[in-house]
Amino acid sequence: FVSNDQEAYMSESSYIEIRGDRENNLRDIDLRIPKHQITVFTGVSGSGKSSVLFDTIAQEAGRQLNSTFSSFARLFLPKYRRPDVDAVANISPAVVIEQKPLGGNARSTLGTISDVNPLLRILFSRFGQSKHGTASNAFSFNDPQGMCATCQGIGRTYVLKLDAAVDQTKSLAAGAVQLPGYTNNAYYQQLLIKAQLFDNDKPVADFTPAEMQLLLNGAATEDQRKKDKFEGIGRQFFRRLVKSDGDTSAAAQKQLDQFAQMDVCPDCHGQRYNQDVLNSRIAGKNIFDLTDMQLDELDALLATWTAPQMAPLLHDLHQKLGDLIEIGLDYLSLTRETASLSGGESQRVKTVQYLGNALTDMLYILDEPSTGLHPRDVHRLNDLLAKLRDNGNTVLVVEHDPDVIKVADHIIDMGPGAGIHGGTVTFTGSYSELLASGTLTGKALRQHLPLNAHPRPATTFITSRPSSLHNLNNTQLSVPTGLFTVITGVAGSGKSTLVEQVFAKDHPEAVIIDQAPLHANSRSSIATYTGILDRLRQIFAKETGKPAGFFSANSTGGCPECKGKGTVELNLSFMDNVSVECPTCHGSKFKAEVLDYKIRGLSIVDMMHMTVEEAVAFFNDKKISAKLQAVENVGLSYLQIGQTLDTLSGGEGQRLKIAAELLNDGNLYILDEPTTGLHTADTANMIRIINDLVDQGNTVIVIEHNTDVMRAADWIVDIGPDGGSRGGQIVYAGPVAGIKNIKDSITAEYI
Ligand code: ADP
Ligand code: ADP
Ligand code: ZN
Ligand code: ZN
Repeated sequence: FVSNDQEAYMSESSYIEIRGDRENNLRDIDLRIPKHQITVFTGVSGSGKSSVLFDTIAQEAGRQLNSTFSSFARLFLPKYRRPDVDAVANISPAVVIEQKPLGGNARSTLGTISDVNPLLRILFSRFGQSKHGTASNAFSFNDPQGMCATCQGIGRTYVLKLDAAVDQTKSLAAGAVQLPGYTNNAYYQQLLIKAQLFDNDKPVADFTPAEMQLLLNGAATEDQRKKDKFEGIGRQFFRRLVKSDGDTSAAAQKQLDQFAQMDVCPDCHGQRYNQDVLNSRIAGKNIFDLTDMQLDELDALLATWTAPQMAPLLHDLHQKLGDLIEIGLDYLSLTRETASLSGGESQRVKTVQYLGNALTDMLYILDEPSTGLHPRDVHRLNDLLAKLRDNGNTVLVVEHDPDVIKVADHIIDMGPGAGIHGGTVTFTGSYSELLASGTLTGKALRQHLPLNAHPRPATTFITSRPSSLHNLNNTQLSVPTGLFTVITGVAGSGKSTLVEQVFAKDHPEAVIIDQAPLHANSRSSIATYTGILDRLRQIFAKETGKPAGFFSANSTGGCPECKGKGTVELNLSFMDNVSVECPTCHGSKFKAEVLDYKIRGLSIVDMMHMTVEEAVAFFNDKKISAKLQAVENVGLSYLQIGQTLDTLSGGEGQRLKIAAELLNDGNLYILDEPTTGLHTADTANMIRIINDLVDQGNTVIVIEHNTDVMRAADWIVDIGPDGGSRGGQIVYAGPVAGIKNIKDSITAEYI
């Protein structure tokens, strides 16, 4: 029996309560989000989903957590803004799992960051035959005891470009060595001649292999090299230029690029470990053999190891590998460098790491975790979200994929439109209630875009050379010119390898439009990126008689205090500087007098607050209109023209790139998952943009998992049949309708 009061209290505490949220475009909204459940936020791009989750909830969670520390400790914590909201109650510490690629240096691999390698190290230190100490550090390529000395555990090392470094037609005395320090009678040239180790008058082309080895690397031992007073021209060159911390000056890098190239380490052949480590084996396998296997194959191999003493370690290994495999990363290996993982793969690795976390009652916030997943594998993601929830956490997700929306315990639909046309809550409830609702999302979920009934005919083809890179197997890509081709296949099947690393390298004229952040400095905005700001300054100059530079924050018009940045750095003596709004220009970036010059009542700063849509209506200038209409055309009419590029989501940035490209004439475009961040209602628009590009005579290749886009294409190339070593082949290439008959195609089932 629960009294009314108690019930009220219970329901209070089992919801996150938000009152009066006005972040970005939000219109003073109130929200209740159930705790310990999966809530999916839907709505068109720009409707305000991120404003609720990232700019309100995550900020406020960080801020409230910080406020529990002393003011001294807070100096060392990340800074959180107070969001523009009246109240946020009942939140827990928040973990934001974004799609930012993991990055990392050459020492960071899937094995090191997932904590699987440390378990393997213990396994080998205890059970490896031809034991090598028992310290398990010795089995780390990041530890001097375990690393290959030649490449310092990187697996790659510089080697001389022999033809550039040595003119082999000449003798040493005649100046065969071209490296810096060997010209005329320079210092190293004198050392080399005086060492008398070679026939100084014999052309280098006539050297025996042993002499060549001696010339490049010196004697085999350090003692002997000291005695000879000669260390080898290559060894000498690299010792001077390559710093172990990887901190190479621009001048040194130029010399390195001229005379050397990165290559697989000749000693460890890319395996990173030294010979002692590689000699230690369990059941015939060394640690490198294990880390270089695909995760599913490694897991299967370890299952055949049954020594009882190994059982506890193997149990932990199976657990960690199992999580990675279950989320669909079975095709990766532990040797894979984290920097080469895609945004979607990185996000899945991060999510799995949190599963092992014993903390409960956390808030997990995920941004479109289905990115990069084939429809076949989306259920794996759903299982992962359910596990996070069942561990006692609240899971908040931004998603457009109907199959993820379906598993939500609760759905909050934002909208109805984007920017100023959005910012309200249009629906809350269950999936079946959403389907029945009249919202844009509900309607979109009920209908599928139709199969392209009139595919353009293929006549001529652009083809790449056959390649066996990564998992490819002498595979070649042929794409019909002047058509809309979609490339499909499960994650890890080889789409990016074949399209971006093989095909695009063979056709350098191809323009790749992906979700990598726009290369931008802190001052870049939509207005600068599209070039309309330059045009605007000219107009201001013409109308006011002032020079154009007067209307530039980077030139004479800039605020003298912040030098046109809009922010100033506060120097807090012993800690990182904090940047705050400039007190003189209040963030406008301009000198006060610039703001006195107006066109039809608006200063240049006022104009930067206009949305693209408003700006199209305001300006009657051909150049500005053409550029702004291109931005409107890709569905970004709701952005403010002064909005800086670093505030755009990956999907928005990608569409802005497409808009800029639409103004150029390219002819071969490669789009990597352009529907990321797009609501089903926006997808139809994206398909129209692609068809416009094709109608203008371009060839467009789209890597996609979205079945609506697949159905709309003229031509489909399905890569697979599965991921990793079970992929890498063309399963089908032809008009979309024909894929239905292909038994091997996993994609066919979903079209
Ligand atoms: P969604 O996540 O639904 O795509 P957002 O919450 O990111 O939408 O954006 C809602 C609106 O707020 C959009 O018009 C967007 O351009 C704007 N916006 C988002 N971040 C900022 C920012 N830092 N400054 C100004 N406007 C912003
Ligand atoms: P998709 O784009 O279809 O998801 P990828 O082309 O990324 O597939 O991957 C195909 C295969 O190549 C996978 O087994 C993947 O692990 C491997 N692979 C991809 N990139 C690299 C890399 N930089 N180094 C090593 N293996 C890679
Ligand atoms: Zn090596
Ligand atoms: Zn200023």
